Amino acid sequence: MSRSHDLFVAAQKHIPGGVNSPVRAFKGVGGDPLFFKRAEGAYMFDEDDNKYIDYVGSWGPMILGHNHPEVIRAVEAALHNGLSFGAPTELETQMADKVCELVPSVEMVRMVNSGTEATMSALRVARGFTGRDKIVKFEGNYHGHSDSLLVKAGSGALTLGVPTSPGVPASLAEHTLTLTYNDSEQVRETFDKLGDEIAAIIVEPVAGNMNCVPPVDGFLQTLREVCDQHGSVLIFDEVMSGFRVALGGAQEYFGVTPDMTTLGKVIGGGMPVGAFGGKRALMEQVAPLGPIYQAGTLAGNPMAMAAGLATLNLISQPGFFEQLGQRVDQLTGGLRQRARAANIPLTTNQAGGMFGYFFSDEETITRFEQVSNGDMERFKRFFHGMLEQGIYLAPAAFETGFVSSAHTEQDINATLDAAERVFADL
Ligand code: PMP
Repeated sequence: MSRSHDLFVAAQKHIPGGVNSPVRAFKGVGGDPLFFKRAEGAYMFDEDDNKYIDYVGSWGPMILGHNHPEVIRAVEAALHNGLSFGAPTELETQMADKVCELVPSVEMVRMVNSGTEATMSALRVARGFTGRDKIVKFEGNYHGHSDSLLVKAGSGALTLGVPTSPGVPASLAEHTLTLTYNDSEQVRETFDKLGDEIAAIIVEPVAGNMNCVPPVDGFLQTLREVCDQHGSVLIFDEVMSGFRVALGGAQEYFGVTPDMTTLGKVIGGGMPVGAFGGKRALMEQVAPLGPIYQAGTLAGNPMAMAAGLATLNLISQPGFFEQLGQRVDQLTGGLRQRARAANIPLTTNQAGGMFGYFFSDEETITRFEQVSNGDMERFKRFFHGMLEQGIYLAPAAFETGFVSSAHTEQDINATLDAAERVFADL
Protein backbone atom coordinates (compact mmCIF):
# COMPACT_ATOMS: atom_id res chain seq x y z
CA MET A 1 0.00 0.00 0.00
CA SER A 2 1.00 3.62 0.25
CA ARG A 3 3.41 5.19 2.69
CA SER A 4 0.53 7.34 3.98
CA HIS A 5 -1.37 4.15 4.81
CA ASP A 6 1.61 2.62 6.63
CA LEU A 7 2.17 5.82 8.58
CA PHE A 8 -1.52 5.97 9.51
CA VAL A 9 -1.39 2.41 10.83
CA ALA A 10 1.73 3.24 12.86
CA ALA A 11 0.18 6.48 14.16
CA GLN A 12 -2.84 4.68 15.57
CA LYS A 13 -0.69 2.68 17.97
CA HIS A 14 -0.05 5.59 20.32
CA ILE A 15 -2.23 8.47 19.07
CA PRO A 16 -6.03 8.29 19.50
CA GLY A 17 -7.35 7.68 15.98
CA GLY A 18 -3.84 8.34 14.64
CA VAL A 19 -4.41 12.10 14.64
CA ASN A 20 -3.96 15.06 16.95
CA SER A 21 -7.24 16.68 15.88
CA PRO A 22 -10.29 14.63 14.87
CA VAL A 23 -11.14 16.18 11.45
CA ARG A 24 -7.75 15.07 10.11
CA ALA A 25 -8.83 11.40 10.29
CA PHE A 26 -11.13 11.68 7.21
CA LYS A 27 -14.07 10.35 9.23
CA GLY A 28 -16.43 12.64 7.31
CA VAL A 29 -15.39 11.26 3.91
CA GLY A 30 -14.08 7.77 4.65
CA GLY A 31 -10.72 6.29 3.69
CA ASP A 32 -7.26 6.90 5.10
CA PRO A 33 -5.95 10.42 5.66
CA LEU A 34 -2.89 11.51 3.72
CA PHE A 35 0.34 12.16 5.56
CA PHE A 36 2.22 15.21 4.34
CA LYS A 37 5.91 15.94 4.41
CA ARG A 38 6.28 19.30 2.73
CA ALA A 39 4.32 22.27 1.44
CA GLU A 40 5.22 25.17 -0.79
CA GLY A 41 3.01 28.04 -1.90
CA ALA A 42 -0.37 26.66 -2.96
CA TYR A 43 0.88 23.06 -2.97
CA MET A 44 1.28 20.24 -0.49
CA PHE A 45 3.30 17.05 -1.07
CA ASP A 46 2.31 13.81 0.60
CA GLU A 47 4.61 11.06 1.83
CA ASP A 48 4.12 9.21 -1.47
CA ASP A 49 5.35 12.28 -3.40
CA ASN A 50 1.95 13.19 -4.79
CA LYS A 51 1.40 16.91 -5.30
CA TYR A 52 -1.87 18.63 -4.38
CA ILE A 53 -3.32 22.09 -4.83
CA ASP A 54 -4.30 22.84 -1.25
CA TYR A 55 -7.58 24.50 -0.21
CA VAL A 56 -7.28 23.70 3.49
CA GLY A 57 -4.33 25.96 4.22
CA SER A 58 -3.76 24.33 7.62
CA TRP A 59 -7.41 25.26 8.35
CA GLY A 60 -6.84 28.94 7.77
CA PRO A 61 -3.43 30.22 8.86
CA MET A 62 -1.64 29.88 5.51
CA ILE A 63 -3.18 32.91 3.82
CA LEU A 64 0.15 33.62 2.08
CA GLY A 65 0.54 30.03 0.98
CA HIS A 66 2.93 27.60 2.60
CA ASN A 67 6.54 28.21 3.46
CA HIS A 68 6.48 31.90 2.51
CA PRO A 69 10.13 33.04 2.35
CA GLU A 70 9.58 36.25 4.32
CA VAL A 71 7.74 34.45 7.10
CA ILE A 72 10.41 31.77 7.27
CA ARG A 73 13.14 34.46 7.36
CA ALA A 74 11.41 36.23 10.26
CA VAL A 75 11.12 32.99 12.22
CA GLU A 76 14.75 32.11 11.50
CA ALA A 77 15.89 35.49 12.77
CA ALA A 78 13.95 35.00 16.03
CA LEU A 79 14.97 31.35 16.31
CA HIS A 80 18.63 32.05 16.85
CA ASN A 81 17.90 34.30 19.82
CA GLY A 82 16.27 31.51 21.82
CA LEU A 83 12.93 29.70 21.70
CA SER A 84 11.18 31.13 24.74
CA PHE A 85 11.97 33.46 27.63
CA GLY A 86 8.80 33.55 29.73
CA ALA A 87 9.52 37.27 30.06
CA PRO A 88 8.41 40.31 28.05
CA THR A 89 9.82 40.89 24.57
CA GLU A 90 9.56 43.82 22.15
CA LEU A 91 7.98 41.54 19.55
CA GLU A 92 4.88 41.17 21.74
CA THR A 93 4.35 44.93 21.83
CA GLN A 94 4.83 45.13 18.08
CA MET A 95 2.20 42.42 17.66
CA ALA A 96 -0.25 44.11 20.04
CA ASP A 97 0.22 47.47 18.28
CA LYS A 98 -0.32 45.87 14.88
CA VAL A 99 -3.50 44.06 15.96
CA CYS A 100 -4.96 47.22 17.50
CA GLU A 101 -4.10 49.16 14.35
CA LEU A 102 -5.73 46.63 12.01
CA VAL A 103 -8.76 45.88 14.21
CA PRO A 104 -9.69 49.21 15.83
CA SER A 105 -12.36 47.73 18.15
CA VAL A 106 -9.47 45.96 19.86
CA GLU A 107 -7.99 48.54 22.24
CA MET A 108 -6.01 46.04 24.27
CA VAL A 109 -5.05 42.48 23.44
CA ARG A 110 -3.64 39.42 25.18
CA MET A 111 -1.86 36.65 23.28
CA VAL A 112 -2.59 32.99 23.98
CA ASN A 113 -1.63 29.72 22.26
CA SER A 114 -4.81 28.63 20.49
CA GLY A 115 -8.26 29.73 19.41
CA THR A 116 -9.75 27.57 22.14
CA GLU A 117 -7.88 29.51 24.79
CA ALA A 118 -8.88 32.80 23.20
CA THR A 119 -12.63 32.11 23.31
CA MET A 120 -12.47 30.52 26.75
CA SER A 121 -10.68 33.57 28.12
CA ALA A 122 -12.94 36.08 26.37
CA LEU A 123 -15.98 34.40 27.93
CA ARG A 124 -14.37 34.59 31.34
CA VAL A 125 -13.80 38.30 30.87
CA ALA A 126 -17.40 38.82 29.75
CA ARG A 127 -18.74 36.84 32.71
CA GLY A 128 -16.39 38.49 35.18
CA PHE A 129 -17.20 41.95 33.89
CA THR A 130 -20.99 41.53 33.84
CA GLY A 131 -21.27 39.29 36.89
CA ARG A 132 -23.59 37.03 34.84
CA ASP A 133 -23.22 33.34 33.93
CA LYS A 134 -25.37 32.73 30.86
CA ILE A 135 -23.96 32.92 27.37
CA VAL A 136 -25.51 32.67 23.92
CA LYS A 137 -23.93 30.74 21.07
CA PHE A 138 -25.23 29.45 17.73
CA GLU A 139 -25.72 25.94 16.42
CA GLY A 140 -23.09 25.10 13.82
CA ASN A 141 -20.63 27.70 15.10
CA TYR A 142 -17.48 26.27 16.65
CA HIS A 143 -15.38 28.12 19.17
CA GLY A 144 -12.88 25.49 20.29
CA HIS A 145 -13.33 22.76 22.86
CA SER A 146 -13.68 24.47 26.23
CA ASP A 147 -16.48 23.19 28.49
CA SER A 148 -18.90 26.12 28.12
CA LEU A 149 -18.77 25.86 24.34
CA LEU A 150 -19.18 22.12 23.76
CA VAL A 151 -22.90 22.53 24.24
CA LYS A 152 -25.97 22.17 22.05
CA ALA A 153 -29.56 23.25 22.50
CA GLY A 154 -31.78 21.12 24.71
CA SER A 155 -35.26 20.26 23.48
CA GLY A 156 -35.89 23.90 22.52
CA ALA A 157 -33.74 26.96 22.14
CA LEU A 158 -34.73 28.53 25.44
CA THR A 159 -34.21 25.35 27.45
CA LEU A 160 -31.01 24.51 29.29
CA GLY A 161 -28.04 23.65 27.10
CA VAL A 162 -26.81 20.06 27.11
CA PRO A 163 -23.21 18.86 26.70
CA THR A 164 -22.11 17.64 23.25
CA SER A 165 -19.28 15.65 24.80
CA PRO A 166 -19.01 13.36 27.79
CA GLY A 167 -16.88 15.12 30.37
CA VAL A 168 -18.66 18.46 30.11
CA PRO A 169 -20.63 18.98 33.34
CA ALA A 170 -24.37 19.48 32.77
CA SER A 171 -24.25 22.11 35.51
CA LEU A 172 -21.92 24.17 33.33
CA ALA A 173 -23.64 23.44 29.99
CA GLU A 174 -26.94 24.72 31.36
CA HIS A 175 -25.55 28.27 31.28
CA THR A 176 -25.10 28.10 27.50
CA LEU A 177 -28.09 28.91 25.30
CA THR A 178 -27.75 27.63 21.75
CA LEU A 179 -29.73 29.53 19.12
CA THR A 180 -30.14 29.31 15.34
CA TYR A 181 -27.50 31.13 13.28
CA ASN A 182 -28.98 33.90 11.14
CA ASP A 183 -32.31 33.91 13.05
CA SER A 184 -32.56 37.48 14.38
CA GLU A 185 -36.11 36.98 15.62
CA GLN A 186 -35.10 34.16 17.93
CA VAL A 187 -32.26 36.27 19.31
CA ARG A 188 -34.71 39.07 20.13
CA GLU A 189 -37.17 36.69 21.80
CA THR A 190 -34.38 35.20 23.88
CA PHE A 191 -33.16 38.60 25.02
CA ASP A 192 -36.72 39.75 25.77
CA LYS A 193 -37.02 36.87 28.22
CA LEU A 194 -33.50 36.43 29.58
CA GLY A 195 -31.43 39.38 28.36
CA ASP A 196 -30.51 40.70 31.78
CA GLU A 197 -29.00 37.33 32.75
CA ILE A 198 -26.86 37.00 29.63
CA ALA A 199 -23.16 37.83 29.96
CA ALA A 200 -22.28 37.51 26.29
CA ILE A 201 -23.13 36.47 22.81
CA ILE A 202 -20.31 34.63 21.08
CA VAL A 203 -20.64 34.29 17.32
CA GLU A 204 -18.61 33.52 14.22
CA PRO A 205 -19.37 36.66 12.20
CA VAL A 206 -18.83 34.52 9.11
CA ALA A 207 -19.53 30.93 10.05
CA GLY A 208 -16.71 28.67 8.90
CA ASN A 209 -17.48 25.55 10.87
CA MET A 210 -20.79 24.74 9.21
CA ASN A 211 -19.17 25.00 5.81
CA CYS A 212 -19.02 28.72 4.86
CA VAL A 213 -22.13 30.67 5.83
CA PRO A 214 -21.99 34.46 5.92
CA PRO A 215 -24.41 36.40 8.13
CA VAL A 216 -27.69 37.49 6.51
CA ASP A 217 -28.44 41.22 6.36
CA GLY A 218 -29.25 42.56 9.79
CA PHE A 219 -28.16 39.51 11.81
CA LEU A 220 -24.95 40.95 13.24
CA GLN A 221 -26.68 44.31 13.72
CA THR A 222 -29.38 42.60 15.78
CA LEU A 223 -26.75 41.01 17.98
CA ARG A 224 -25.19 44.45 18.50
CA GLU A 225 -28.57 45.96 19.37
CA VAL A 226 -29.66 43.38 21.94
CA CYS A 227 -26.25 43.45 23.61
CA ASP A 228 -26.48 47.25 23.87
CA GLN A 229 -30.01 47.07 25.26
CA HIS A 230 -29.15 44.51 27.92
CA GLY A 231 -25.56 45.33 28.85
CA SER A 232 -24.28 42.02 27.42
CA VAL A 233 -20.87 41.67 25.81
CA LEU A 234 -20.77 40.98 22.08
CA ILE A 235 -17.87 38.68 21.23
CA PHE A 236 -16.95 38.13 17.59
CA ASP A 237 -15.01 34.92 17.31
CA GLU A 238 -12.74 35.92 14.43
CA VAL A 239 -10.29 33.06 14.93
CA MET A 240 -11.09 32.07 11.37
CA SER A 241 -12.49 35.24 9.79
CA GLY A 242 -9.90 37.60 11.29
CA PHE A 243 -7.34 38.87 8.73
CA ARG A 244 -9.03 36.45 6.32
CA VAL A 245 -12.36 37.94 5.26
CA ALA A 246 -10.81 41.41 5.16
CA LEU A 247 -7.72 42.98 6.70
CA GLY A 248 -9.86 44.20 9.61
CA GLY A 249 -11.82 40.94 9.76
CA ALA A 250 -15.55 40.35 9.42
CA GLN A 251 -16.24 43.35 11.63
CA GLU A 252 -14.72 45.61 8.99
CA TYR A 253 -16.34 43.69 6.12
CA PHE A 254 -19.85 43.94 7.62
CA GLY A 255 -19.41 47.19 9.53
CA VAL A 256 -20.56 45.89 12.92
CA THR A 257 -18.34 46.51 15.94
CA PRO A 258 -18.11 43.93 18.73
CA ASP A 259 -17.01 44.57 22.32
CA MET A 260 -14.49 41.74 22.22
CA THR A 261 -12.75 39.84 19.45
CA THR A 262 -10.98 36.50 19.48
CA LEU A 263 -8.26 35.79 16.96
CA GLY A 264 -6.10 32.83 15.92
CA LYS A 265 -4.90 31.08 12.76
CA VAL A 266 -3.62 33.92 10.47
CA ILE A 267 -2.32 35.90 13.46
CA GLY A 268 0.25 33.14 14.01
CA GLY A 269 1.19 32.58 10.37
CA GLY A 270 1.20 28.81 11.01
CA MET A 271 2.58 28.83 14.55
CA PRO A 272 0.34 27.96 17.53
CA VAL A 273 -1.29 31.27 18.48
CA GLY A 274 -4.53 32.85 19.58
CA ALA A 275 -5.46 36.25 20.97
CA PHE A 276 -8.37 37.94 22.68
CA GLY A 277 -8.95 41.63 22.99
CA GLY A 278 -11.48 44.39 22.94
CA LYS A 279 -12.62 47.48 24.73
CA ARG A 280 -10.17 48.89 27.23
CA ALA A 281 -12.75 48.81 30.06
CA LEU A 282 -13.12 45.05 29.58
CA MET A 283 -9.47 44.20 29.04
CA GLU A 284 -8.40 46.26 32.06
CA GLN A 285 -10.17 43.63 34.15
CA VAL A 286 -7.59 41.02 33.10
CA ALA A 287 -4.75 40.08 35.48
CA PRO A 288 -2.40 41.63 36.47
CA LEU A 289 -4.31 44.90 35.90
CA GLY A 290 -7.59 43.48 37.15
CA PRO A 291 -9.00 40.48 39.01
CA ILE A 292 -9.95 38.19 36.07
CA TYR A 293 -7.30 35.51 35.86
CA GLN A 294 -5.63 34.35 32.67
CA ALA A 295 -2.03 33.30 31.99
CA GLY A 296 0.27 31.27 29.70
CA THR A 297 3.83 29.88 29.96
CA LEU A 298 4.41 30.18 26.21
CA ALA A 299 1.99 33.04 25.48
CA GLY A 300 3.53 35.62 23.15
CA ASN A 301 6.21 33.14 22.13
CA PRO A 302 8.88 34.88 20.01
CA MET A 303 8.71 32.38 17.12
CA ALA A 304 4.95 32.74 16.95
CA MET A 305 5.10 36.53 17.17
CA ALA A 306 7.71 36.66 14.41
CA ALA A 307 5.69 34.43 12.05
CA GLY A 308 2.48 36.29 12.84
CA LEU A 309 3.92 39.77 12.44
CA ALA A 310 5.57 38.92 9.13
CA THR A 311 2.23 37.53 7.93
CA LEU A 312 0.23 40.56 9.09
CA ASN A 313 2.72 42.91 7.43
CA LEU A 314 2.49 41.07 4.12
CA ILE A 315 -1.32 40.95 4.08
CA SER A 316 -1.42 44.69 4.90
CA GLN A 317 -0.03 45.50 1.46
CA PRO A 318 -2.47 47.42 -0.73
CA GLY A 319 -4.62 45.27 -2.98
CA PHE A 320 -3.97 42.03 -1.08
CA PHE A 321 -7.60 41.28 -0.26
CA GLU A 322 -8.89 42.44 -3.65
CA GLN A 323 -6.69 39.89 -5.36
CA LEU A 324 -7.64 37.17 -2.88
CA GLY A 325 -11.33 37.94 -3.46
CA GLN A 326 -10.86 37.74 -7.24
CA ARG A 327 -9.33 34.26 -6.93
CA VAL A 328 -12.22 33.12 -4.78
CA ASP A 329 -14.70 34.58 -7.31
CA GLN A 330 -12.93 32.70 -10.07
CA LEU A 331 -13.14 29.47 -8.07
CA THR A 332 -16.77 29.70 -6.91
CA GLY A 333 -18.05 31.10 -10.22
CA GLY A 334 -16.19 28.40 -12.12
CA LEU A 335 -17.48 25.61 -9.88
CA ARG A 336 -21.08 26.76 -10.30
CA GLN A 337 -20.72 27.06 -14.04
CA ARG A 338 -19.13 23.63 -14.50
CA ALA A 339 -21.63 21.99 -12.16
CA ARG A 340 -24.50 23.57 -14.12
CA ALA A 341 -23.04 22.25 -17.37
CA ALA A 342 -22.99 18.77 -15.81
CA ASN A 343 -26.54 19.16 -14.44
CA ILE A 344 -25.40 18.97 -10.85
CA PRO A 345 -27.14 21.25 -8.34
CA LEU A 346 -24.45 23.25 -6.57
CA THR A 347 -24.60 26.39 -4.45
CA THR A 348 -21.56 28.36 -3.30
CA ASN A 349 -20.90 30.88 -0.55
CA GLN A 350 -17.89 33.09 0.05
CA ALA A 351 -16.47 35.93 2.08
CA GLY A 352 -12.98 37.31 1.44
CA GLY A 353 -10.57 34.38 1.35
CA MET A 354 -13.16 31.80 2.54
CA PHE A 355 -15.47 29.77 0.32
CA GLY A 356 -18.01 26.97 0.57
CA TYR A 357 -19.80 24.70 -1.89
CA PHE A 358 -22.95 22.69 -1.28
CA PHE A 359 -24.51 19.90 -3.30
CA SER A 360 -27.96 21.33 -2.82
CA ASP A 361 -30.95 22.61 -4.80
CA GLU A 362 -31.29 25.64 -2.56
CA GLU A 363 -30.50 28.96 -4.17
CA THR A 364 -28.98 30.41 -1.02
CA ILE A 365 -27.57 28.65 2.01
CA THR A 366 -27.89 30.67 5.20
CA ARG A 367 -28.90 28.10 7.85
CA PHE A 368 -27.18 25.17 9.50
CA GLU A 369 -30.17 22.97 8.70
CA GLN A 370 -29.72 23.62 4.97
CA VAL A 371 -26.07 22.62 5.20
CA SER A 372 -27.02 19.38 6.96
CA ASN A 373 -29.61 18.63 4.27
CA GLY A 374 -27.01 18.77 1.46
CA ASP A 375 -26.20 15.61 -0.50
CA MET A 376 -23.46 14.15 1.71
CA GLU A 377 -22.90 11.05 -0.45
CA ARG A 378 -22.21 13.24 -3.45
CA PHE A 379 -19.91 15.40 -1.34
CA LYS A 380 -17.85 12.35 -0.38
CA ARG A 381 -17.58 11.16 -3.97
CA PHE A 382 -16.59 14.64 -5.10
CA PHE A 383 -13.99 14.94 -2.36
CA HIS A 384 -12.32 11.63 -3.27
CA GLY A 385 -12.57 12.34 -6.98
CA MET A 386 -10.83 15.67 -6.50
CA LEU A 387 -8.18 14.10 -4.29
CA GLU A 388 -7.37 11.65 -7.08
CA GLN A 389 -7.05 14.63 -9.41
CA GLY A 390 -4.54 16.27 -7.06
CA ILE A 391 -6.88 18.74 -5.36
CA TYR A 392 -6.88 18.75 -1.56
CA LEU A 393 -10.22 20.04 -0.25
CA ALA A 394 -11.47 20.04 3.32
CA PRO A 395 -12.32 16.42 4.17
CA ALA A 396 -15.72 17.28 5.68
CA ALA A 397 -18.88 18.93 4.39
CA PHE A 398 -19.10 21.16 7.46
CA GLU A 399 -15.78 22.92 6.88
CA THR A 400 -15.06 26.07 4.91
CA GLY A 401 -12.44 26.20 2.16
CA PHE A 402 -9.50 28.60 2.07
CA VAL A 403 -7.73 30.27 -0.83
CA SER A 404 -4.28 31.83 -0.37
CA SER A 405 -2.44 34.58 -2.21
CA ALA A 406 -0.16 31.86 -3.61
CA HIS A 407 -3.02 30.37 -5.64
CA THR A 408 -2.58 31.57 -9.21
CA GLU A 409 -5.19 31.87 -11.93
CA GLN A 410 -3.66 28.73 -13.43
CA ASP A 411 -4.05 26.84 -10.15
CA ILE A 412 -7.72 27.78 -10.02
CA ASN A 413 -8.21 26.82 -13.68
CA ALA A 414 -6.53 23.47 -13.05
CA THR A 415 -8.90 22.98 -10.10
CA LEU A 416 -11.94 23.79 -12.24
CA ASP A 417 -10.81 21.41 -14.98
CA ALA A 418 -10.40 18.70 -12.34
CA ALA A 419 -13.89 19.48 -11.00
CA GLU A 420 -15.32 19.18 -14.49
CA ARG A 421 -13.84 15.69 -14.85
CA VAL A 422 -15.14 14.68 -11.42
CA PHE A 423 -18.62 16.17 -12.03
CA ALA A 424 -18.86 14.00 -15.15
CA ASP A 425 -18.76 10.89 -12.92
CA LEU A 426 -21.04 12.12 -10.14
N1 PMP B 1 -12.99 29.57 16.88
C1 PMP B 1 -13.16 29.34 15.57
C2 PMP B 1 -14.09 30.20 14.79
C3 PMP B 1 -12.46 28.30 14.94
O1 PMP B 1 -12.65 28.08 13.64
C4 PMP B 1 -11.59 27.50 15.70
C5 PMP B 1 -10.80 26.36 15.09
N2 PMP B 1 -11.15 25.93 13.85
C6 PMP B 1 -11.45 27.78 17.07
C7 PMP B 1 -12.15 28.82 17.62
C8 PMP B 1 -10.52 26.98 17.92
O2 PMP B 1 -9.21 27.25 17.61
P1 PMP B 1 -8.04 26.22 17.95
O3 PMP B 1 -8.27 25.01 17.11
O4 PMP B 1 -6.79 26.96 17.62
O5 PMP B 1 -8.15 25.91 19.42
